[in-house]
Amino acid sequence: MSKRILITGGAGFLGSHLCEKLLDEGNEIICLDNFHTGRKKNILHLLDNPRFELIRHDITEEIRLEVDQIYNMACPASPVHYQSNPIKTIKTNVLGTMNMLGLAKRVNARLLQASTSEIYGDPKEHPQRESYWGNVNTIGIRSCYDEGKRVSETLCFDYNRYNNVDIRVIRIFNTYGPRMLADDGRVVSNFIVQALRGNDITIYGDGSQTRSFCYVDDLVTGIVSMMNKEGFLGPVNLGNESEFTVKELAELVIEKTNSKSKIIYNPLPQDDPARRKPDLTIAKEKLNYKVNVPLRDGLVKTIAYFEKNLN
Ligand code: NAD
Ligand code: UDP
Repeated sequence: MSKRILITGGAGFLGSHLCEKLLDEGNEIICLDNFHTGRKKNILHLLDNPRFELIRHDITEEIRLEVDQIYNMACPASPVHYQSNPIKTIKTNVLGTMNMLGLAKRVNARLLQASTSEIYGDPKEHPQRESYWGNVNTIGIRSCYDEGKRVSETLCFDYNRYNNVDIRVIRIFNTYGPRMLADDGRVVSNFIVQALRGNDITIYGDGSQTRSFCYVDDLVTGIVSMMNKEGFLGPVNLGNESEFTVKELAELVIEKTNSKSKIIYNPLPQDDPARRKPDLTIAKEKLNYKVNVPLRDGLVKTIAYFEKNLN
């Protein structure tokens, strides 16, 4: 049955793919964004659809809407952007999530919170299971995001226990794909843009740190499954289990773009996690979650997007 769905951060990378998928499924979509890291361009092709509505709004301010479901995706995800105004990042995660939970409570909507693998910090358990409580610096440059998201999870579970709000919590691991900003600052888009422009590929540290990269389509399917799963609040990890060093990623991007760019090494930022890989057992068992797009194939699709969209 068609639902009225609010997607905060709907003009961003993940949010715009969610808008598209949920519109295709026949729902009414309210896309809400303050356009900090989101772009109208990402949802331009949806604006003519009578079931799609766009609202410029900041979730740190209250809003009253009638909806059945809320995907709370609003928050810059790239370290460069979330560190550019750290207090705003905390407000978005804490005040913003409270406002969205308050809305969910008022109109009896289900809220899905986009949490992150960052809540595990620089993990001492590998791969990371949902039962791991994490290793997070409370006063570092990543803390505004890590701690903000940790509080957002706490708020969800307290609104559920205390106010009976129907919540779902997902922990997203590094996801990439079309519609990331060219100047987003995250590693996959950085390397692709550098390779296509023939600029140096900037590895931070020695490149031995690892991440497990998930293509956006796999993730978005998992997000929607979790929203519509009955009787399971989460948290659940969503991502891809294939782990790569940052150096391997750089080499793969150079290979797939046929670039003449050379690799250079810059200092590793503070608190940069040494390794990260999701344990997806729960997602597979509860949501029948499957990873369909390996990194090599996802990179080809993402490179094609940037080839078309770079000036
Ligand atoms: P993104 O930066 O592309 O999108 C975030 C969107 O939220 C943007 O459109 C931005 O303008 C909007 N926004 C930010 N603050 C807002 C505010 N206060 N009010 C209204 N809108 C606001 O990032 P993304 O990769 O699409 O990430 C979406 C969500 O998923 C974020 O909550 C992020 O923390 C989470 N996440 C993403 C990843 C990933 O790898 N992509 C990993 C972990 C978690
Ligand atoms: N990174 C890098 N070069 C870049 C951008 C990022 O080597 O131009 C590294 C970064 O230090 C980190 C990894 O790539 O170890 C992933 O960084 P990203 O910002 O994409 O995500 P996160 O650190 O939040 O996982």
